[in-house]
Amino acid sequence: MEVDYRNIILQNITPSWLPDNIQAAMLRLDLLHPEISGNKWFKLKYNLEAAGKRRILTFGGAYSNHIAATAAACELAGLPCIGIIRGERPLQLSHTLQLAVEKGMQLEFVSREVYRHKDSTNWTPLFPDAYIIPEGGNNVAGARGCQEILSLADTSAFTHILCAVGTGTTLAGLISSAQPHQLVQGYVVLKGATYLQEEVAALLRGIADLQGSVFHAAPWTLIHDFHGGGYAKTSSGLISFINHFYQETRIPLDVVYTGKLVWGFSQSAFPAGSKILLIHTGGLQGNLSLSPDVLNF
Ligand SMILES: *Cc1c(COP(=O)(O)O)cnc(C)c1O
Repeated sequence: MEVDYRNIILQNITPSWLPDNIQAAMLRLDLLHPEISGNKWFKLKYNLEAAGKRRILTFGGAYSNHIAATAAACELAGLPCIGIIRGERPLQLSHTLQLAVEKGMQLEFVSREVYRHKDSTNWTPLFPDAYIIPEGGNNVAGARGCQEILSLADTSAFTHILCAVGTGTTLAGLISSAQPHQLVQGYVVLKGATYLQEEVAALLRGIADLQGSVFHAAPWTLIHDFHGGGYAKTSSGLISFINHFYQETRIPLDVVYTGKLVWGFSQSAFPAGSKILLIHTGGLQGNLSLSPDVLNF
């Protein structure tokens, strides 16, 4: 399938708030593909392979990066796909859902109640033969795809690897492919999501089961202090941080994930001499939910 890894670059960054004794760089997964952006491609990769010729069934909200990426990836792969969308069909589809429809995704709107039980629902009678990808691409196949991320550039000299965390799938892939001397830090964008500790551990066990003696895990930690009020909650402080970061680095961030990651990074302390790798997981399509004059890019 046509995504071109050569689009991804490792970019050194020197924002004004970066301490002199720290180096930082960003791995720009956002540059991978205009529609299958960032980490979502890596989470989909083995899932699409496992699907064979079956149609894809997956889940998300009206602004979901995962829905956008799945629709685009299925179009490229020539696979039919269905998106189970949380909530009533709105009069006006969000830009994310419009894009999904353009890419050929069949949308099925379900009540919040039905959506809450999606993982324990038997979808087979409604959608026979569908290959189910959980919300956010959150499964072992998704995490395994994310093991590729750190080999997209020479990342071996970094002491810390920082990534935004929603489901923790990407983080599990990073943890199981980082070097033992690297600390993997996940910046959680949901409020009070303490369950993630166990979810990431469960994904790691799933990967270990598949990989046997080849499996290793780097040290890792979850940071819960920078959700900024909760999932998809923004503030004028976050917006001006993102705008300022763009002015200084020309790197666009999204308000849901990478904005909070970099903001959290700017507030975190690291030992002198640390070399920090930030993973830009993409997701910039989510910014289209803001009014056009909010961001300066
Ligand atoms: C979905 C998403 C994440 C979260 O990834 P998980 O694997 O669910 O933790 C992070 N950043 C961006 C930009 C995303 O779209």
